[in-house]
Amino acid sequence: MLHITDLTKRYESGGLEQFALQPISLSVEQGEFVAIMGPSGSGKSTFMNLLGCLDKPSSGSYVLDGIEISQLDENKLADVRNRKIGFVFQAFHLLPRSSALTNVELPMLYAGFSRKERRERATEALGRVGLAERLHNRPNQLSGGQKQRVAIARSLVNRPAILLADEPTGNLDSRSSLEIMAIFQELHAQGVTILLVTHETDIAEHAERIITFRDGAIIADDRVQNRRIAQSGGEAVQP
Ligand code: ATP
Ligand code: MG
Repeated sequence: MLHITDLTKRYESGGLEQFALQPISLSVEQGEFVAIMGPSGSGKSTFMNLLGCLDKPSSGSYVLDGIEISQLDENKLADVRNRKIGFVFQAFHLLPRSSALTNVELPMLYAGFSRKERRERATEALGRVGLAERLHNRPNQLSGGQKQRVAIARSLVNRPAILLADEPTGNLDSRSSLEIMAIFQELHAQGVTILLVTHETDIAEHAERIITFRDGAIIADDRVQNRRIAQSGGEAVQP
């Protein structure tokens, strides 16, 4: 699904080139649910922006769904971004004056769907995240958790190959966070490939694999079950 080889990102700062990402190699299979953790400044968002085609790598290879992304020009990159990638951000990024329905219809407008199809698909997607009763509400009439659910519905309407979420629960209280994680787990059960950045271990443990960044490099890549056993003081239960 996603194959990365020696991907790097450098930023210029004060005439100095700094590595935000050291050469990173990683594969994620179709349907995996991966959490990404690591301290502030360790390169998590930089990495997600490369995966989401919001930014270009300095070097290395990124193959998504059989397409070599790092070779694409800006037009083709925008096309991949619209058709293959769903993005959910900490700050929701909804249009404030538009209804939930209109917000969710937006990516389909760019993708060229008919008005009828847009309405049908947006209604279905909002139902999928439990907002069937909220179609005509504007963001300021919704709670934080509900806003994030609108953003998730929006990220799914073009049926992306991969769903990227950068701290989707960062602005939410713990109850709304758990509701959002329940939705991610349901999407995972339906076969959606998910990469999710979080600072919180209990949020990360909703995923099946946890990748840890430090200083722009991957320092750990664990299955969640193995991690739980390791944390219980080595008393792994024998089958
Ligand atoms: P946080 O947990 O605080 O969100 P992060 O792990 O997402 O942190 P990044 O935002 O990816 O970290 O930043 C990684 C490094 O790259 C940091 O040293 C940061 O200062 C630097 N950086 C990020 N964006 C830019 C930019 N546009 N220009 C210059 N440096 C940048
Ligand atoms: Mg970040």
